[in-house]
Amino acid sequence: MNKINYQNIEYIIKKFEKRNIQASYFENLLETKNKILNMIPMQSSIGIGNSKTLKKMEISKELSERGNQVLDKTKAKTKEEVLMLKRKSLLTDWYITGTNAISMEGHIVNIDHSGNRVAAMLYGPKKVIIVVGINKITKTLEKAVNRIKNIAAPLNAKRAGFEPPCIEVNKCIDCFSDERVCNSLVTIEGQADKNRIKVFIVNQRIGF
Ligand code: SF4
Repeated sequence: MNKINYQNIEYIIKKFEKRNIQASYFENLLETKNKILNMIPMQSSIGIGNSKTLKKMEISKELSERGNQVLDKTKAKTKEEVLMLKRKSLLTDWYITGTNAISMEGHIVNIDHSGNRVAAMLYGPKKVIIVVGINKITKTLEKAVNRIKNIAAPLNAKRAGFEPPCIEVNKCIDCFSDERVCNSLVTIEGQADKNRIKVFIVNQRIGF
């Protein structure tokens, strides 16, 4: 979705509701950040998924500065610390992350390299907040997967310093390279634990 269409947003929110996922709409990242800061108690622990959207929002920094226990692997200084933070993030009170795509039918779709981010979305943290810009909304699940493979994955691979063939040709060729970043393709279709996942849709084009 390139421009906001309020009817479409209402439609998506209703679709998520049917899947026990609570979706909300925000005009911008600042509004979204304020909602998150008000929603999460000061004594809560929070895991952070690596995301351009969250980096832009500086939510990790603000939560740390006000005294929350924040587990953010991007702040780690060693590989061992990255691994430890990824593992510990699976048992936090809250997990905040971006996503690769959502569909208008209420699917949350992600491709992961090591799998820690999708693992936390699926189970472990008591509550999950997923922040997504309108540029990542697709009409169907099929289009979401297509978007991820041909737009998000090559750009994410490049950002993370991997060199699969898609970064040269700018599209997925379904590689079996050692540099492959698409090791888990996960579609969340619903939640058993009602409203454990909250999707915050932001009226900005953020991330890829
Ligand atoms: S499967 Fe390989 S070529 Fe396709 S997007 Fe993933 S890393 Fe790139």
